[in-house]
Amino acid sequence: MQAFQFENAATRIRFGSGSLVHLREEVARLGITRAIVLTTPQQISLADRADELLGEVAVTRFTEATMHTPVTVTQAALAQAREAGVDGIVSLGGGSTIGLGKAIALRTGLPQITVPTTYAGSEMTPILGETDAGRKVTQRQPVIQPRAVIYDVDLTLSLPIAASVTSGINAIAHAVEALYAIDANPVTSLLAEEGIRSFAQALPRLHTDPQDRSAREQALYGAWLCGTCLGQVGMALHHKLCHTLGGTFDLPHAETHSIVLPHAIAYNAVAGDAMGRIARALGTDQPPALGMFALCRQLGAPAALRDLGMPEAGIAQAADLATANPYPNPRPIERDPLMALLRRAWAGSPPLPEET
Ligand code: NAD
Repeated sequence: MQAFQFENAATRIRFGSGSLVHLREEVARLGITRAIVLTTPQQISLADRADELLGEVAVTRFTEATMHTPVTVTQAALAQAREAGVDGIVSLGGGSTIGLGKAIALRTGLPQITVPTTYAGSEMTPILGETDAGRKVTQRQPVIQPRAVIYDVDLTLSLPIAASVTSGINAIAHAVEALYAIDANPVTSLLAEEGIRSFAQALPRLHTDPQDRSAREQALYGAWLCGTCLGQVGMALHHKLCHTLGGTFDLPHAETHSIVLPHAIAYNAVAGDAMGRIARALGTDQPPALGMFALCRQLGAPAALRDLGMPEAGIAQAADLATANPYPNPRPIERDPLMALLRRAWAGSPPLPEET
């Protein structure tokens, strides 16, 4: 076994159907007496429920959380938080809302409690990506990590099925890359394999019936595991490619992940132990890249970057950008095989491990 480092994240988890009722208790446990409640315009009813549960502790609310955490939005929320004299943050929603809470925590050091309603996994990481003047900058710091998370399965029932699928595949991508990360460790690998397995079983059931509560439970459990992996170890080719494609061609985050993932797995087929674990977790006899591609097709996820609006001429540009700065990856990042990968992902063709 290789030498490794492992750090326990100091995040308290409360998981289960109806667990939002524990919000006030969890807020008190963190010593919060004056909270700002955060969400998006689409989830105001959730802020209403939080206000009811928190009573006089909810002193102000900000419901304009926005994708990619623009600094201008953070500044507006921060001004409101300071004016109200808050001593804690309650974020209810997906990665965008949780990102806003993290951005406030970074600037104030205030404790945060999060109530995730998608599978993105941000609640389990000390990572924050912020956008300023069209540029996204990502940083990792302990103060960014939420102190408590309430996973209430009931709140995910309303997540539309298309968003459930792409958000779930986005989560699987965190676990896949954790398995071949340069700083992988045995505990994170256990979590990653179980996280992939949870989604591989839950997503087809949700695709058949989005109201299947036990499938929702299994998916949210997977979100916790995969988010933990993202928080523990570094990511590789897949995340670099998605970041480059999203930033350069303004492609949607989770959809881009669900197109690129099977191809990134194919590219990294040399990572034998990780591939065995991915195949086992997917329950497939095929090479894991093809198993992942088949799962994405079964779930009706988008297959082709061209369908998201990426121009064909962008393939070479993306390959140049993704090879510009070296980063850890099981297989060396080389322009020609990367071009082949991007061509297939652009056209929506299945991954071909032997060709990439
Ligand atoms: P999101 O938070 O942007 O949510 C998308 C939309 O769905 C919003 O309108 C939201 O209100 C709505 N929504 C969320 N949950 C719902 C529910 N249960 N029912 C109905 N509507 C619901 O989407 P996301 O995919 O969770 O987050 C994406 C963002 O998170 C990206 O900016 C990404 O970079 C970031 N992210 C960060 C990390 C990290 O560790 N820092 C990890 C993953 C994702």
